[in-house]
Amino acid sequence: MWLPLKIKSGINNKVKSDIYNVLKVDFLTESTCLLRVERKDITFRAGQCFSLAPVGLGINREYSIYSGENDDYLEFLIKIIDGGTVTQAIKQLKVGDRVEIAGPYGEFCLKPNQIESSQFLFIATGTGIAPFHSFVKTFPHIDYKIVQGIRHHNEKYGVADYELGRYVACISQEETRDFKGRVTDYLTQIELSPETISYLCGNRAMIIDTYDILREQNIGGDNIITEVFF
Ligand SMILES: Cc1cc2nc3c(=O)[nH]c(=O)nc-3n(C[C@H](O)[C@H](O)[C@H](O)COP(=O)(O)OP(=O)(O)OC[C@H]3O[C@@H](n4cnc5c(N)ncnc54)[C@H](O)[C@@H]3O)c2cc1C
Repeated sequence: MWLPLKIKSGINNKVKSDIYNVLKVDFLTESTCLLRVERKDITFRAGQCFSLAPVGLGINREYSIYSGENDDYLEFLIKIIDGGTVTQAIKQLKVGDRVEIAGPYGEFCLKPNQIESSQFLFIATGTGIAPFHSFVKTFPHIDYKIVQGIRHHNEKYGVADYELGRYVACISQEETRDFKGRVTDYLTQIELSPETISYLCGNRAMIIDTYDILREQNIGGDNIITEVFF
């Protein structure tokens, strides 16, 4: 199988970084943080990512934008990793602290000529839903379905922001009223139109397996766009 994995977005080291104030730190679960920072005059396209770190840490990581193009703040949805270099520092952030941000980077964006007329399938694991939230906030009228793979029901981040019937949770570790299993299990049980444009974001294993399933459903490789988080 050949998969055009985009391991890193198109990093341009010439982009300058700047310092931004933290406006809000909201723990949606014990280990998932919604970080809001001031926007200043940054412009970006929904789905792009930024390089971010608490000031003084000296190491940064990429985070996809969670907020919409028209919001007057920047938001990021960040999974705090046990022993993670940057996320353990992010976990300590408080309102008024400062973060260093560079960007935006990447091309994990909707194509302008497809926005109005296409049927989109957004497939995520965990915080991989961030760019899709940004898409939906920016273009609320697009025709989309989001399928998110999570372990527990409390990881249905921002579910109220999606129109009824457009969001499906695939929960692997808990019996709930949601689909029980992985996104790959769910996708093998539904039929997709070959015209569907699919965006995949999250862990590499899900993306590789999902890519194969979508190709088996006759979705062309050009209509499968991927962003690997780790
Ligand atoms: C383009 C791009 C966009 C990204 N956007 C986001 C985002 O919006 N939200 C987000 O939470 N992360 C995102 N990431 C991942 C992020 O950049 C870091 O890798 C992550 O936060 C871990 O950094 P760390 O320094 O704390 O851990 P490190 O010290 O670098 O590594 C710790 C370990 O954690 C693993 N790991 C990384 N991410 C996860 C995860 N989500 N779940 C489980 N294990 C993980 C790594 O593979 C590594 O083995 C993105 C990555 C890329 C490449």
